[in-house]
Amino acid sequence: MELIATKIEESLDALTMERAKERRIDKDWNHASSVGWLEDCERYLCLLRLCPEKEEVSGIERQRVFDEGHIQEPAMRAELKAAGWKLLERKKEPFFHEPLKLTGEEDDILEINGTKRPVDYKSCSDGTFREIKRCETSIDLMKSRFIWVRHYPAQMYSYLFGHKVPIGLLAFKNKSSGEKKMLDVPENKIYFNMLKDGLMSVNQRVDKEDPPRAVWKDACEKCGFVRTVCFTDREISDYAALTDLTGEMNQDLIILFSEWFRTEKDAKIHDRADKEIKRKLRGATVIVGGEWLFQTSKYNVTGHDLPEDIQVQIDALKKPYETTVERMRATLKWLKAPLKI
Ligand code: SF4
Repeated sequence: MELIATKIEESLDALTMERAKERRIDKDWNHASSVGWLEDCERYLCLLRLCPEKEEVSGIERQRVFDEGHIQEPAMRAELKAAGWKLLERKKEPFFHEPLKLTGEEDDILEINGTKRPVDYKSCSDGTFREIKRCETSIDLMKSRFIWVRHYPAQMYSYLFGHKVPIGLLAFKNKSSGEKKMLDVPENKIYFNMLKDGLMSVNQRVDKEDPPRAVWKDACEKCGFVRTVCFTDREISDYAALTDLTGEMNQDLIILFSEWFRTEKDAKIHDRADKEIKRKLRGATVIVGGEWLFQTSKYNVTGHDLPEDIQVQIDALKKPYETTVERMRATLKWLKAPLKI
Protein backbone atom coordinates (compact mmCIF):
# COMPACT_ATOMS: atom_id res chain seq x y z
CA MET A 1 0.00 0.00 0.00
CA GLU A 2 1.36 3.43 -0.97
CA LEU A 3 2.27 5.75 1.94
CA ILE A 4 1.03 9.24 1.08
CA ALA A 5 1.31 11.36 4.26
CA THR A 6 4.61 13.03 3.20
CA LYS A 7 3.34 13.64 -0.32
CA ILE A 8 0.22 15.37 1.03
CA GLU A 9 2.31 17.55 3.37
CA GLU A 10 4.58 18.52 0.50
CA SER A 11 1.67 19.42 -1.77
CA LEU A 12 0.13 21.61 0.96
CA ASP A 13 3.46 23.37 1.57
CA ALA A 14 3.87 23.94 -2.17
CA LEU A 15 0.47 25.63 -2.26
CA THR A 16 1.36 27.81 0.73
CA MET A 17 4.62 28.84 -0.97
CA GLU A 18 2.71 29.79 -4.13
CA ARG A 19 0.58 32.13 -2.05
CA ALA A 20 3.69 33.55 -0.35
CA LYS A 21 5.05 34.52 -3.78
CA GLU A 22 1.90 36.39 -4.78
CA ARG A 23 2.69 39.95 -3.82
CA ARG A 24 1.16 43.32 -4.07
CA ILE A 25 3.26 45.70 -6.14
CA ASP A 26 1.79 49.18 -5.91
CA LYS A 27 4.04 52.16 -6.41
CA ASP A 28 1.24 54.73 -6.35
CA TRP A 29 -0.36 54.29 -2.94
CA ASN A 30 0.56 53.97 0.74
CA HIS A 31 -1.33 51.04 2.25
CA ALA A 32 -3.12 51.23 5.60
CA SER A 33 -1.66 47.87 6.63
CA SER A 34 1.87 49.31 6.38
CA VAL A 35 1.54 52.86 7.74
CA GLY A 36 2.43 51.70 11.28
CA TRP A 37 6.01 51.64 9.95
CA LEU A 38 5.98 55.44 10.17
CA GLU A 39 6.78 55.00 13.85
CA ASP A 40 9.68 52.67 13.15
CA CYS A 41 11.13 53.62 9.77
CA GLU A 42 9.93 56.15 7.21
CA ARG A 43 12.48 54.73 4.79
CA TYR A 44 10.56 51.42 4.75
CA LEU A 45 7.42 53.18 3.45
CA CYS A 46 9.47 55.04 0.83
CA LEU A 47 11.07 51.80 -0.38
CA LEU A 48 7.63 50.14 -0.57
CA ARG A 49 6.70 52.81 -3.11
CA LEU A 50 10.05 53.14 -4.89
CA CYS A 51 11.11 49.51 -5.23
CA PRO A 52 8.42 47.17 -3.79
CA GLU A 53 9.72 44.33 -5.96
CA LYS A 54 12.88 44.29 -3.81
CA GLU A 55 11.05 43.44 -0.60
CA GLU A 56 11.83 39.83 0.26
CA VAL A 57 8.77 37.61 0.00
CA SER A 58 7.57 36.22 3.28
CA GLY A 59 8.62 32.69 4.10
CA ILE A 60 6.33 29.72 4.49
CA GLU A 61 5.94 30.21 8.27
CA ARG A 62 4.67 33.78 7.88
CA GLN A 63 2.39 32.78 5.03
CA ARG A 64 0.84 30.06 7.23
CA VAL A 65 0.08 32.76 9.82
CA PHE A 66 -1.56 34.99 7.15
CA ASP A 67 -3.59 32.06 5.83
CA GLU A 68 -4.80 31.23 9.34
CA GLY A 69 -5.91 34.86 9.72
CA HIS A 70 -7.96 34.64 6.54
CA ILE A 71 -9.59 31.44 7.74
CA GLN A 72 -10.45 33.01 11.11
CA GLU A 73 -11.99 36.18 9.60
CA PRO A 74 -15.38 34.68 8.54
CA ALA A 75 -15.54 32.71 11.78
CA MET A 76 -15.13 35.90 13.85
CA ARG A 77 -17.69 37.70 11.69
CA ALA A 78 -20.19 34.89 12.25
CA GLU A 79 -19.61 34.97 16.02
CA LEU A 80 -20.22 38.74 16.20
CA LYS A 81 -23.42 38.36 14.20
CA ALA A 82 -24.58 35.45 16.35
CA ALA A 83 -24.07 37.65 19.42
CA GLY A 84 -26.48 40.19 17.91
CA TRP A 85 -24.11 42.81 16.43
CA LYS A 86 -25.09 44.30 13.09
CA LEU A 87 -22.47 44.04 10.39
CA LEU A 88 -23.12 45.62 7.02
CA GLU A 89 -23.54 43.08 4.24
CA ARG A 90 -21.42 44.60 1.54
CA LYS A 91 -18.80 43.96 -1.06
CA LYS A 92 -15.38 44.90 0.31
CA GLU A 93 -14.07 48.00 -1.40
CA PRO A 94 -10.91 49.92 -0.64
CA PHE A 95 -11.01 53.64 0.16
CA PHE A 96 -8.65 56.03 -1.61
CA HIS A 97 -7.52 59.22 0.11
CA GLU A 98 -5.93 61.10 -2.78
CA PRO A 99 -4.14 63.94 -0.88
CA LEU A 100 -2.24 61.45 1.29
CA LYS A 101 -2.06 58.75 -1.37
CA LEU A 102 -3.52 56.43 1.26
CA THR A 103 -5.59 53.36 0.54
CA GLY A 104 -6.92 50.46 2.60
CA GLU A 105 -9.74 48.08 3.17
CA GLU A 106 -11.21 47.23 6.57
CA ASP A 107 -12.51 43.70 7.24
CA ASP A 108 -16.03 44.78 8.22
CA ILE A 109 -18.32 47.71 9.05
CA LEU A 110 -20.26 47.57 12.29
CA GLU A 111 -23.44 49.62 12.47
CA ILE A 112 -24.49 51.00 15.83
CA ASN A 113 -27.44 53.40 16.17
CA GLY A 114 -27.07 54.48 12.56
CA THR A 115 -23.31 55.18 12.85
CA LYS A 116 -20.63 53.11 11.15
CA ARG A 117 -17.42 51.74 12.63
CA PRO A 118 -14.67 49.95 10.70
CA VAL A 119 -13.69 46.58 12.19
CA ASP A 120 -10.39 44.78 11.77
CA TYR A 121 -10.09 41.13 12.82
CA LYS A 122 -6.78 39.90 14.20
CA SER A 123 -6.30 36.25 15.06
CA CYS A 124 -3.26 35.79 17.28
CA SER A 125 -0.90 33.20 18.66
CA ASP A 126 -0.95 32.55 22.40
CA GLY A 127 2.04 34.84 23.03
CA THR A 128 0.68 37.76 21.00
CA PHE A 129 -2.74 37.40 22.60
CA ARG A 130 -1.23 37.51 26.11
CA GLU A 131 0.53 40.76 25.11
CA ILE A 132 -2.75 42.22 23.78
CA LYS A 133 -4.71 41.20 26.86
CA ARG A 134 -2.42 43.37 28.95
CA CYS A 135 -3.50 46.43 26.90
CA GLU A 136 -6.39 48.48 28.23
CA THR A 137 -6.53 50.96 25.33
CA SER A 138 -5.44 51.04 21.71
CA ILE A 139 -2.65 53.45 22.71
CA ASP A 140 -1.18 50.66 24.90
CA LEU A 141 -0.75 48.54 21.77
CA MET A 142 1.69 51.11 20.45
CA LYS A 143 4.05 50.40 23.35
CA SER A 144 4.23 46.67 22.61
CA ARG A 145 7.57 44.92 22.19
CA PHE A 146 6.13 43.18 19.09
CA ILE A 147 6.47 45.37 16.01
CA TRP A 148 3.32 43.97 14.34
CA VAL A 149 1.24 44.74 17.47
CA ARG A 150 2.60 48.31 17.57
CA HIS A 151 1.36 48.76 13.98
CA TYR A 152 -2.29 47.71 14.54
CA PRO A 153 -3.60 51.12 15.76
CA ALA A 154 -2.08 52.97 12.77
CA GLN A 155 -3.94 50.65 10.41
CA MET A 156 -7.23 51.41 12.15
CA TYR A 157 -6.48 55.17 12.32
CA SER A 158 -5.99 55.04 8.54
CA TYR A 159 -9.50 53.59 8.15
CA LEU A 160 -10.95 56.33 10.38
CA PHE A 161 -9.07 58.87 8.30
CA GLY A 162 -10.14 57.35 4.99
CA HIS A 163 -13.81 57.03 5.94
CA LYS A 164 -13.97 60.21 8.08
CA VAL A 165 -15.49 58.35 11.04
CA PRO A 166 -14.53 58.94 14.70
CA ILE A 167 -14.15 55.39 16.07
CA GLY A 168 -13.31 51.84 15.00
CA LEU A 169 -12.91 48.40 16.56
CA LEU A 170 -9.99 45.97 16.73
CA ALA A 171 -11.30 42.42 17.34
CA PHE A 172 -8.66 39.93 18.55
CA LYS A 173 -8.99 36.17 18.90
CA ASN A 174 -6.59 33.66 20.42
CA LYS A 175 -6.29 30.94 17.77
CA SER A 176 -5.47 28.24 20.33
CA SER A 177 -8.01 28.98 23.05
CA GLY A 178 -10.72 30.87 21.12
CA GLU A 179 -10.64 33.68 23.72
CA LYS A 180 -11.56 37.17 22.41
CA LYS A 181 -10.47 40.68 23.26
CA MET A 182 -12.02 43.84 21.80
CA LEU A 183 -10.42 47.28 21.75
CA ASP A 184 -12.19 50.49 20.74
CA VAL A 185 -9.99 52.78 18.67
CA PRO A 186 -11.28 56.35 19.01
CA GLU A 187 -9.80 59.09 16.82
CA ASN A 188 -6.75 60.78 18.24
CA LYS A 189 -5.95 64.24 16.89
CA ILE A 190 -2.25 64.12 17.82
CA TYR A 191 -1.78 60.76 16.15
CA PHE A 192 -3.82 61.82 13.11
CA ASN A 193 -1.55 64.82 12.60
CA MET A 194 1.52 62.64 12.97
CA LEU A 195 0.09 60.23 10.39
CA LYS A 196 -0.71 63.08 8.04
CA ASP A 197 2.73 64.71 8.36
CA GLY A 198 4.46 61.34 8.06
CA LEU A 199 2.62 60.34 4.89
CA MET A 200 3.14 63.75 3.33
CA SER A 201 6.85 63.42 3.97
CA VAL A 202 6.84 59.90 2.43
CA ASN A 203 5.02 61.22 -0.65
CA GLN A 204 7.46 64.09 -1.10
CA ARG A 205 10.47 61.81 -0.71
CA VAL A 206 8.99 59.31 -3.17
CA ASP A 207 8.44 62.11 -5.71
CA LYS A 208 12.08 63.14 -5.35
CA GLU A 209 13.27 59.50 -5.14
CA ASP A 210 15.08 60.46 -1.96
CA PRO A 211 14.35 58.02 0.90
CA PRO A 212 15.87 58.73 4.33
CA ARG A 213 19.22 57.06 4.90
CA ALA A 214 19.36 53.52 6.31
CA VAL A 215 20.03 53.50 10.04
CA TRP A 216 20.16 50.21 11.87
CA LYS A 217 17.35 49.66 14.40
CA ASP A 218 15.59 46.64 15.88
CA ALA A 219 12.83 46.90 13.24
CA CYS A 220 15.42 46.07 10.54
CA GLU A 221 15.43 42.45 11.70
CA LYS A 222 11.76 42.18 10.67
CA CYS A 223 12.12 44.15 7.44
CA GLY A 224 12.00 42.66 3.95
CA PHE A 225 14.47 45.25 2.61
CA VAL A 226 17.23 44.54 5.07
CA ARG A 227 19.17 42.11 2.88
CA THR A 228 18.01 43.36 -0.50
CA VAL A 229 18.44 47.14 -0.20
CA CYS A 230 19.63 48.56 3.12
CA PHE A 231 22.40 46.35 4.44
CA THR A 232 23.09 44.14 1.50
CA ASP A 233 26.69 43.12 1.93
CA ARG A 234 26.92 42.61 5.64
CA GLU A 235 25.89 40.08 8.23
CA ILE A 236 22.75 41.04 10.17
CA SER A 237 24.42 39.71 13.33
CA ASP A 238 27.16 42.34 12.90
CA TYR A 239 24.55 45.07 13.33
CA ALA A 240 22.61 43.33 16.03
CA ALA A 241 25.82 43.07 18.06
CA LEU A 242 25.93 46.86 18.16
CA THR A 243 22.55 47.27 19.78
CA ASP A 244 21.36 46.39 23.24
CA LEU A 245 18.11 44.58 24.02
CA THR A 246 16.00 47.69 23.49
CA GLY A 247 17.44 48.16 20.01
CA GLU A 248 19.45 51.20 21.11
CA MET A 249 23.06 51.51 20.04
CA ASN A 250 25.51 50.12 22.57
CA GLN A 251 26.40 53.18 24.69
CA ASP A 252 30.07 52.17 25.18
CA LEU A 253 30.52 52.11 21.42
CA ILE A 254 28.83 55.47 20.94
CA ILE A 255 31.26 57.01 23.47
CA LEU A 256 34.25 55.32 21.82
CA PHE A 257 33.24 56.46 18.34
CA SER A 258 32.80 60.07 19.42
CA GLU A 259 36.15 59.92 21.29
CA TRP A 260 37.82 58.54 18.16
CA PHE A 261 36.41 61.41 16.10
CA ARG A 262 37.13 64.21 18.58
CA THR A 263 40.71 63.21 19.32
CA GLU A 264 42.20 62.75 15.88
CA LYS A 265 44.93 65.27 16.77
CA ASP A 266 45.65 63.71 20.17
CA ALA A 267 47.45 60.54 19.12
CA LYS A 268 47.47 58.88 22.55
CA ILE A 269 43.74 59.07 23.29
CA HIS A 270 42.87 58.54 19.65
CA ASP A 271 44.96 55.32 19.46
CA ARG A 272 43.39 54.04 22.67
CA ALA A 273 39.88 54.57 21.29
CA ASP A 274 40.93 53.09 17.95
CA LYS A 275 42.33 49.94 19.60
CA GLU A 276 39.29 49.53 21.86
CA ILE A 277 36.81 49.87 18.93
CA LYS A 278 38.79 47.31 16.92
CA ARG A 279 38.89 44.95 19.89
CA LYS A 280 35.12 45.20 20.42
CA LEU A 281 34.21 44.83 16.75
CA ARG A 282 36.89 42.33 15.78
CA GLY A 283 35.95 40.47 12.61
CA ALA A 284 32.89 42.63 11.82
CA THR A 285 32.19 44.98 8.93
CA VAL A 286 29.51 47.42 9.96
CA ILE A 287 28.04 50.84 9.43
CA VAL A 288 27.30 52.43 12.78
CA GLY A 289 24.61 55.07 13.05
CA GLY A 290 24.61 55.37 9.25
CA GLU A 291 27.82 57.43 9.37
CA TRP A 292 30.68 55.27 10.58
CA LEU A 293 32.06 52.54 8.44
CA PHE A 294 34.06 49.96 10.34
CA GLN A 295 35.69 47.55 7.94
CA THR A 296 37.79 44.47 8.41
CA SER A 297 39.48 42.62 5.64
CA LYS A 298 41.82 39.65 5.57
CA TYR A 299 45.30 39.75 4.16
CA ASN A 300 48.21 37.33 3.98
CA VAL A 301 51.61 37.80 5.53
CA THR A 302 54.55 35.82 4.25
CA GLY A 303 57.22 34.88 6.81
CA HIS A 304 59.94 32.31 7.34
CA ASP A 305 59.19 29.84 10.09
CA LEU A 306 62.70 28.37 10.38
CA PRO A 307 63.68 25.98 13.13
CA GLU A 308 66.13 27.66 15.50
CA ASP A 309 69.06 25.39 14.66
CA ILE A 310 69.04 26.34 10.99
CA GLN A 311 68.15 30.01 11.55
CA VAL A 312 71.74 31.00 10.90
CA GLN A 313 72.15 28.93 7.74
CA ILE A 314 72.45 30.55 4.34
CA ASP A 315 69.52 32.51 2.78
CA ALA A 316 69.11 30.04 -0.04
CA LEU A 317 67.93 27.44 2.43
CA LYS A 318 65.05 29.69 3.63
CA LYS A 319 62.87 29.31 0.57
CA PRO A 320 61.53 25.81 1.30
CA TYR A 321 60.40 26.99 4.76
CA GLU A 322 58.25 29.86 3.52
CA THR A 323 54.83 30.07 5.19
CA THR A 324 51.65 32.07 4.57
CA VAL A 325 49.62 33.33 7.52
CA GLU A 326 46.17 34.91 7.31
CA ARG A 327 45.82 38.24 9.19
CA MET A 328 43.09 40.80 9.60
CA ARG A 329 43.22 44.52 8.84
CA ALA A 330 40.71 46.93 10.39
CA THR A 331 39.98 50.49 9.30
CA LEU A 332 37.50 53.05 10.55
CA LYS A 333 36.19 55.83 8.32
CA TRP A 334 33.81 58.67 8.98
CA LEU A 335 31.53 58.69 5.95
CA LYS A 336 30.59 62.40 6.23
CA ALA A 337 27.54 61.99 3.96
CA PRO A 338 24.81 59.42 4.57
CA LEU A 339 24.72 56.36 2.38
CA LYS A 340 22.05 56.31 -0.33
CA ILE A 341 20.51 53.34 -2.05
S1 SF4 B 1 16.14 47.55 6.79
FE1 SF4 B 1 15.91 48.96 8.49
S2 SF4 B 1 16.50 50.95 7.65
FE2 SF4 B 1 16.06 49.62 5.91
S3 SF4 B 1 13.93 50.02 5.43
FE3 SF4 B 1 14.00 48.24 6.77
S4 SF4 B 1 13.70 49.05 8.82
FE4 SF4 B 1 14.26 50.79 7.49
